[in-house]
Amino acid sequence: MATTAFTRKTLGLETAEPAVTPPPAGHQTTFVKKPKLAGSKSRKREIPEGLWTKCPKCGTMVFDKELDENLKVCSRCEHHFPIGARERIHSMVETCTFEEMDAEMTSVDVLNFTGAASYKSKLEKNLATTGLKDAVITGIGKIGEHRVGLGVMDFKFLGGSMGSVVGEKLTRLIEKATEKTLPLIIVSSSGGARMYEGMLSLMQMAKTCAALAYHAKARLPYISVLTDPTTAGVMASFASVGDLIIAEPGAMIGFAGPRVIKDTTQAELPPGFQTAEFLLDRGLIDAIVSRRGMKQQLIGYLGYMGGRQR
Ligand SMILES: [Zn+2]
Repeated sequence: MATTAFTRKTLGLETAEPAVTPPPAGHQTTFVKKPKLAGSKSRKREIPEGLWTKCPKCGTMVFDKELDENLKVCSRCEHHFPIGARERIHSMVETCTFEEMDAEMTSVDVLNFTGAASYKSKLEKNLATTGLKDAVITGIGKIGEHRVGLGVMDFKFLGGSMGSVVGEKLTRLIEKATEKTLPLIIVSSSGGARMYEGMLSLMQMAKTCAALAYHAKARLPYISVLTDPTTAGVMASFASVGDLIIAEPGAMIGFAGPRVIKDTTQAELPPGFQTAEFLLDRGLIDAIVSRRGMKQQLIGYLGYMGGRQR
């Protein structure tokens, strides 16, 4: 059979007319022309943006819907992607139990700060892109059977920086928890104090810690949850004074950045420096808890620390 087919093909070639007129110089027939690269564009279209995210740790393409269902944790390598404050609150509290406090409080540009961009324009831009009023959401909610004061920071809003509004909202939350004899949970994610507010943002460090001291005096538990990243003014104030300090896996936690420390100490930094795992090894934090097990773990801690069930 194969032989027959081969013979037929040969015959066909022999009967083909040779090209009589050579094509003019410089002319390219459509036959030779490289087909237009419809492929390069359409291939991109095959993976529409916002459907898949590449995991920076293991390189797996993760389906966004799956990532959302998984609380933004890579199912293959446990990498914790950033998660918004509202999403996190939703993952922690019982449905319809969260009563937000000071939802309308917004920052003002008291110093008329101008740099590469003015503080005012930065605020407006962040308000529009994040849908948040500032870098923290506070309120009272129920986790399991425990009513708690809950504050959650959002890194998306100006790097989770602490200005007057973040400090004031947290202070009011802490004072409310003290007044109502409730335990307190603050989930931090911050680049530090907000430089656009100068000294006013540094004052928030003392203010939040003073309020926490009254909360502690009332013998009420405070759990500080550190997420990636928790640094500078926030780490140097309320985030590091929890009765219990827990962190998410792989979270970057520290005061100054590694480069500054390296330049100051003139020493090589050990591997894994400023990660949650590094700090746990050295006793600076109490536990590392995966986001997916966070709620259950918190319920356990609250029960153990005497959170009231009501
Ligand atoms: Zn991964």
